[in-house]
Amino acid sequence: MQPSTSTAAPLNQPALQNQSPLNQSPVLTHDEIVSRDPATNQEIGRVPILTQPEIESMIARARAAQTAWVAVSFDERARIITRARQIVLDEMDAIATLISRESGKPVAESVSMEIIPTLDLMHFFARRTAHILKPERIALGQYTIAGRTSRIIYKPLGVIAIIAPWNFPWAIPLGEVVMALMAGNAVVLKPSEVTSLVGLKIKDVFTRAGLTDDLLHVATGDGMTGAALAASPLVNKIMFTGSVATGKRVAAAAAQNLTPVVLELGGKDPMIICRDADLPVAAHAAVWGAFANSGQACASVERCYVHESVAAEFTKLVVEATKNLRQHHGTNEASDVAAMSSERQAQIVDAHINDAVTRGARILTGGKRNHDFAASPDDAHLDDTHNDTHTNLFYEPTILVDVEDAMLVMHEETFGPVLPIKTFRTEDEAVRLANDSPFGLTASVWTRDLKRGARLAAMIDAGTVTVNEVLYTHGLAATPWGGIKQSGMGRTHGKQGLLELVYPQHIHTNRLPRFADLWWFNYTPSAHTLFRQLARRATNGSILQSALAFPAVVRRFLEMRRRK
Ligand code: NAD
Repeated sequence: MQPSTSTAAPLNQPALQNQSPLNQSPVLTHDEIVSRDPATNQEIGRVPILTQPEIESMIARARAAQTAWVAVSFDERARIITRARQIVLDEMDAIATLISRESGKPVAESVSMEIIPTLDLMHFFARRTAHILKPERIALGQYTIAGRTSRIIYKPLGVIAIIAPWNFPWAIPLGEVVMALMAGNAVVLKPSEVTSLVGLKIKDVFTRAGLTDDLLHVATGDGMTGAALAASPLVNKIMFTGSVATGKRVAAAAAQNLTPVVLELGGKDPMIICRDADLPVAAHAAVWGAFANSGQACASVERCYVHESVAAEFTKLVVEATKNLRQHHGTNEASDVAAMSSERQAQIVDAHINDAVTRGARILTGGKRNHDFAASPDDAHLDDTHNDTHTNLFYEPTILVDVEDAMLVMHEETFGPVLPIKTFRTEDEAVRLANDSPFGLTASVWTRDLKRGARLAAMIDAGTVTVNEVLYTHGLAATPWGGIKQSGMGRTHGKQGLLELVYPQHIHTNRLPRFADLWWFNYTPSAHTLFRQLARRATNGSILQSALAFPAVVRRFLEMRRRK
């Protein structure tokens, strides 16, 4: 954990304004964050809100450490990642419990959706980074005959700022930390204020794996801490994951220094069920895709479009499966769905459901907080110090039908356990509905006809489209992750994600250093003749045509030799 700070710097002041019941998890005080279990409101730890000078100092120390790290071989970097991976494996249960306690999610998902993907990613990038980033030769065509060669080497950017959300507090930042370190960068990680302890656990794992201390810093704090990091001219790239609104603020701050940014933002991901889909499987997928992590995944199924001929059967199966879900505290192994992470998020769900119902939607199941978990006024964990009231964050998984495009639940990100189902008649209509969104993160198509699946997938505007699959591809280390439109820009994971963390340096060599180039000064009549011939004959890739310019080349060459 970072040393506690008692310095009341200006950056700390706005944190006081956040002391509202809406922010019960966590509570922000003058200079620290009190982290709480959203299921119980029980305090689970405190971390400092770091100030701008502290952030600047971290970046400076990270930069100094990176200059040595860049000389460390891929093999040695991989050894540290592999040791960290072993620590995660050895301490899997404790880490999973921490993730569940701080975020509220079921412990099963802490393992399946957070720890397993990162173990896989650590293995993948430890083994593959050297190969992906190996120098590349560029074919130069006719310039090769003139003795020129070009190659690309990939160089680390320097210090990477990773600003992370709370919904996958382990998998999202840890994956980016691993890729950044393997590529030769240092990192300053700003975890979400909701899940600071998980962020610090990432640091703890790498420290014990032998990573030089200053190569990875964890800057705990709130939005102001993130803003200080994003505004720093000393950061070489920002990897931001979070809401569209904050993403725009980060991009605006980064623009002041022309700091490059990757933005992984929100989604309103559609699921299209064709008439020939395997309905029981598609229904099971819809329920998991919509309600895993209480729907708090950027790639959750947020809109389901089902062909009218199978809509009744599909909806029946979805409702049955939803009613069978078991809702408990996240740390209970029998829990399918647990608590949401914050009251703020739960209130967005309330608003979307109320708006839909007011406009004519029907709730087939759910639609409210689960009364089995109603917070009692005598709750032992109420925190009077902060005027904090414990609200019930257990939201019942909710199915809505008779929904219309104008409803909030059909076009704004809900980020909660709500699945609206709407019918379509033709495939073109389904694609139009899927694309009629300001977002473009992921989408899925369900059909037994794989050709149809591939055709529809290619018609959908999204960073990832899955056929007969849903939600999970962030868990694939090898495939790119990222969106279009308001879902963001740039990629993380896979080769494309790794390339975001380096810059391609072009090294061009003239292997005949004793000769001046024919296009240098002076521009004599023979130069003009040569240039015109080159323009006509040597720019269309034809060796034969280029050969016709050869006499003019020789004349110019001899002329330049005479001038020497
Ligand atoms: P958020 O935007 O509120 O916060 C994200 C991070 O930004 C936090 O660490 C926060 O402290 C920090 N922050 C806040 N204000 C800042 C500022 N002005 N400058 C810099 N940093 C600042 O998002 P959230 O509520 O933590 O996460 C939920 C959102 O994240 C959802 O919209 C979800 O779709 C999105 N998300 C996207 C992906 C993806 O891969 N596309 C993955 C997970 C979550």
